[in-house]
Amino acid sequence: MAGMLYLVPTPIGNLGDISTRCRETLELADFIAAEDTRVSVKLLNHLGIKKPLISYYEHNKASKGSVIVDRILAGETCVLVSDAGSPAISDPGEDLVKQCAEAGITVCAIPGPCAVITALSISGQSTGRFCFEGFLSTAKKSRREHLESLVNEQRTMVFYEAPHKLLSTLTDMAAVFGDGRSISLCRELTKLHEEVVRTTLGEAVTKYTQDTPKGEFVLVLAGAEPPKQSEATPEDAAARVAQLMADGISRKDAVRQTAKELDLPKNVVYEAALSG
Ligand code: SAM
Repeated sequence: MAGMLYLVPTPIGNLGDISTRCRETLELADFIAAEDTRVSVKLLNHLGIKKPLISYYEHNKASKGSVIVDRILAGETCVLVSDAGSPAISDPGEDLVKQCAEAGITVCAIPGPCAVITALSISGQSTGRFCFEGFLSTAKKSRREHLESLVNEQRTMVFYEAPHKLLSTLTDMAAVFGDGRSISLCRELTKLHEEVVRTTLGEAVTKYTQDTPKGEFVLVLAGAEPPKQSEATPEDAAARVAQLMADGISRKDAVRQTAKELDLPKNVVYEAALSG
């Protein structure tokens, strides 16, 4: 009978955040696939758990994925861990889950520490609807294109960011979304120097031009304001079109000008003018 793949989240800064269920799952593994075995062995030593470890990371995932799948199909139970947080969220675990699912292997995710959710909950931004944007590209052009694709996004947006790229990302964000857009910069979560800076993009650029960013960051950006609904009625539109036409303006131009002035769709103004 085939074994299983378990995804075990690990602390993002505070060792106390490992749960009983995560510990028990690590104990039942036949082997552990780890993003960096040197990082994971420290955690396993802390927990007093000794298991065979194999590395599974960005640059060997294509070859190692098949090895892991074959071992699970042969009956072994594998636990996947990343360096910190929930495996498969902005780390190579995503591909292993796909491969296992395709091979008909049962995948079980244990809930636990995850930087995106920890940051979102502490951010003070709206949490009802949000989208996770992961890491932006290091290339300026594709980073700008990614941000520009979000210009009308009304949901709260969450980004992962490395400290050395923070200032250029904030500068690009301010150019795309405006200086006044609200942002929460969540740094070193669950660690000794945990900090949440709730500010605007413009002020964040000023701050990190002066202070060198240190540590790990999650950026939680407010969504765009919904477009304002016009308060004008079709009767208002019809009256304004009639007034403009009485002043000698063509119907077409009067409709166009009224739509602009009253912030109404042109077809609505046109129909109001015809029936008014
Ligand atoms: N899979 C992990 C998760 O979702 O929790 C994230 C892995 S991703 C490779 C690493 C990124 O997560 C960092 O660059 C940072 O943006 C964020 N991160 C991880 N730990 C953090 C912490 N303690 N405080 C703030 N951000 C953190």
